[in-house]
Amino acid sequence: MSAAGDRPAEGGRRPGRGRPARRGQPFSLNVRPLRSRPGTRRQVYLEGQLPGMFVSSARVADDATVRFDGYVESTLGGVTVAGEVTAPWTGVCRRCLEPAEGEVVAEVRELCRDPGEAAWEEDEPYPVGHDELDLQPIVRDACILELPLAPLCSDGCLGLCPTCGANRNRDECSCDVPTDTRWSALAGLGSEAAEPSEPTEQEAE
Ligand SMILES: [Zn+2]
Ligand SMILES: [Zn+2]
Repeated sequence: MSAAGDRPAEGGRRPGRGRPARRGQPFSLNVRPLRSRPGTRRQVYLEGQLPGMFVSSARVADDATVRFDGYVESTLGGVTVAGEVTAPWTGVCRRCLEPAEGEVVAEVRELCRDPGEAAWEEDEPYPVGHDELDLQPIVRDACILELPLAPLCSDGCLGLCPTCGANRNRDECSCDVPTDTRWSALAGLGSEAAEPSEPTEQEAE
């Protein structure tokens, strides 16, 4: 039932460059039997690689396995896709700058309509053909939305010492750093920023 999952796309490492071979599209599904009988549902498990997914410092590695586990249900004029998308991510901890990792878990539920149907609107992002449904855009969007914008190696990461740069998760430095340093620094910034800047007069030549 895993369809093309054991044939990950090769040569598709650069997004937007070239079109991977059809047989190498792990998230492509033949929906012809399903669409011929509206109201029917089919369990679907797909896995493969989707290169080029990243947000700030967090990314899904190009060779990581991305999974969709859910179902596709035939409706009048299209199909509904619902399930869970999972993928491992790696990144850089925003506090200590060490490697961070985790798992993207995204619930998806999308109505994919046939561009040939009257109900179709021009801006729908996930069209379904009569024979084929490519879940890749749905899976990709779900992953990118769930990637952490500010990754942490752990919720309790202590970060770097602002004075000597020691990683406080590993090293205990002897710097005298009061815990509210950030606030006094901010207060200082605030008073400076509050001073109005002199408008400079520009002479026209
Ligand atoms: Zn950290
Ligand atoms: Zn220190």
